[in-house]
Amino acid sequence: MKRISSYLGGAWQAGEGHTATLVNPATTEALAEVGTAGGLGEALHWARTVGGPNLRALTWQQRGEILGTLAKRLHGAREELIAIAVANGGNTRGDAKFDIDGAIGVLAGYASINASLPATTGHLVDGESVPLHKGSKLRAQHVLTPRLGAAIHVNAFNFPAWGMVGKLAVALAAGVPVVSKPATSTALLAWRIAEIMLESGVLPAGAFQLLLGPAGDLLDHVGRQDVVAFTGSADTGALIRGHRRVVATNARVNIEADSLNAVVIGPDVQPGSELFDLVVKDCVIELTQKAGQKCTATRRILVPTALLGDLRDAIVDRLQAIAAKTGDPANDENRMGPLSSAAQQRDARAGILALSSHTSRVVGDPERKTFAGVADGVGYFIEPILLEATAAAALDPAAPFHHHEVFGPVATLLPYDGSVEAAASIVAAGQGSLVGTVYADDREFTARASVALAPSLGRLVLASEKIAAASLAPGCVFPVANHGGPGRAGDGGELGGKTGLEFYLQRTTLQGGAAELARLVGTE
Ligand code: NAP
Repeated sequence: MKRISSYLGGAWQAGEGHTATLVNPATTEALAEVGTAGGLGEALHWARTVGGPNLRALTWQQRGEILGTLAKRLHGAREELIAIAVANGGNTRGDAKFDIDGAIGVLAGYASINASLPATTGHLVDGESVPLHKGSKLRAQHVLTPRLGAAIHVNAFNFPAWGMVGKLAVALAAGVPVVSKPATSTALLAWRIAEIMLESGVLPAGAFQLLLGPAGDLLDHVGRQDVVAFTGSADTGALIRGHRRVVATNARVNIEADSLNAVVIGPDVQPGSELFDLVVKDCVIELTQKAGQKCTATRRILVPTALLGDLRDAIVDRLQAIAAKTGDPANDENRMGPLSSAAQQRDARAGILALSSHTSRVVGDPERKTFAGVADGVGYFIEPILLEATAAAALDPAAPFHHHEVFGPVATLLPYDGSVEAAASIVAAGQGSLVGTVYADDREFTARASVALAPSLGRLVLASEKIAAASLAPGCVFPVANHGGPGRAGDGGELGGKTGLEFYLQRTTLQGGAAELARLVGTE
């Protein structure tokens, strides 16, 4: 069987033993195997002592040019990468494009951000200098410089391209070298992307390393100038945040974790309106894209009681059409593929069972065995599932749909009375989410809801009839927009344009005379 290797310390390393077999989750065909890599302390040392100096010797703009070249290389290999995502990720072609184009988009986005930064290797100036106190000749000027450590990136299985490349783009833009560990089950795509990026020849030595298989003792070697950026489950996130060495070094940590994203449908939305159609379209996309394995997928649909019947019927119609075309994603006719692994299928079924104490099942059979293009019982499929709670259960903060993220094609209808107060308390019961959406034309409802919901959310999408035609489903993340949410979602922040660089930079206050500061930061 094909064996895929880590790239550590400047060499490809096959690793010891047989740690895992990567499969096609639609057919269970074995695709590749990985072993366990060693020398992780040395890899981090190489990043800090070779990769960091190499990157910091480049100007902000030169690092942006590298990202631009990588974007072009990956774009050139797009069809090959899509085929890998279909085979190892269970992605439909559309799902695969979402991941791969997203990755290319972040590279291109940060190439363009860095093109607007100085053509120097010096500080980034952060705002204007201010007098230390009224009448003082001394001023304070904040500046940002690349940290001297390495960036350790640990990614989730669901976005092997966007997850890895998105984090990498921001770190390299900032001038910090990366050791990237993709999730094992879908690592084939991350590995091939790494190969293409390294073959491009534009990455300075030490700027990027790939660790396949388990993280091993990687975190035992974390240093004080290192940063750790993690995406995955809340449980693993808590382990990483609480890791003895991470705590002891005060290494910077960013956690992107679970999320019970919600959409709020305003009381003014009428059946048959363009806005109603947008709600239905978005809910169905979020439920079925990547078979619901998206951190930003809508899990809770808040619908005014009066609209419940119409919305339920409209969503069910669409889901049944997709259920009939759920199967092997290698066939372009199929509209939804399998979950990524047997473990994900098992977890999703257990999650649906956990939610059943407080919901009824509107449509979908979690135990269905027959899917298009594969033999009965083969593959890790689950058809789209819509659940429904009562209005009383929706208001119960202890109800499982507010706490248990079922990472599959599953969402719950939550009827509510149409008030901002009820919507805010239901959304807040999720204890912090990546994204929420308000669908309403009533400007006052939207204004009040945006204030009431914001503390629970990392991003709030405002959708109305006026922008319905241009609207994008809430699960889309853009390089210019901050990605991350409070509380359960990890309280992290990634991307967000220039702000995203700050995780990798040290903010220092330069304190001195006005003329000297202006000379130093080039604003005289
Ligand atoms: P996971 O099981 O927590 O794994 C995430 C990553 O952590 C994998 O690379 C995994 O490696 C690694 N890992 C596991 N144990 C570790 C340890 N003790 N030390 C260091 N690394 C360790 O999560 P997942 O199942 O891949 O991803 C699904 C979850 O990710 C969902 O809950 C989803 O909501 C969340 N997610 C969040 C975002 C976001 O941006 N907020 C985005 C995508 C996904 P192995 O694969 O080798 O075990």
